[in-house]
Amino acid sequence: MTQQTYPRRHIIGIGAGALAVLALPQLARGQQLPLTPQCDADAKATPPQTEGPFFKPRSPLRSDLRAELKGSPVLLTGFVLTRDCRPIANALVDLWHADADGDYDNRGFRGRGHQFTDAQGRYRFLTVKPARYTGRTAHYHVKVQAANGPVLTTQLYFPGEPANRRDGLYRPDLEMRFSGAADARFDFVLSRG
Ligand code: FE
Repeated sequence: MTQQTYPRRHIIGIGAGALAVLALPQLARGQQLPLTPQCDADAKATPPQTEGPFFKPRSPLRSDLRAELKGSPVLLTGFVLTRDCRPIANALVDLWHADADGDYDNRGFRGRGHQFTDAQGRYRFLTVKPARYTGRTAHYHVKVQAANGPVLTTQLYFPGEPANRRDGLYRPDLEMRFSGAADARFDFVLSRG
């Protein structure tokens, strides 16, 4: 598995600035996560999936990907957890996905961004729903990594998509949970945090 290098130490160094960006009012209006993650004491690790052909390293540090994307907004939030349900602070969450036409930006970084979980182990992205493309149902690609841990590469799916049934990669346990049309929740459980 390819290990990606992210400027983690540098990011910590500019922590105050990064927090100011995350505290934008438009983010604050989103879904409030419960303080305690919902998981078992011996939770199943989030299953890995193929990276696919469109991953690009060194995505921008940002949680709002909508500036360059059209489409239905999605607020994707959740925790990064250990298998015994402990939140992991400062874990990397790197998201990339197709746009509303089913295209990836392979020249620039449209539809790509990474961030680190906060002190409570939470992440939050504002983005859009990707369109399905040939052979694939709608999905997000994600890499998740605790500091100095292995990279989990996986994909997230939308519930109720007719194309899920025709996509050989789709798995119901990688579906996001929606509360309302735009509020998506997925908690990642790392096999080794
Ligand atoms: Fe894809």
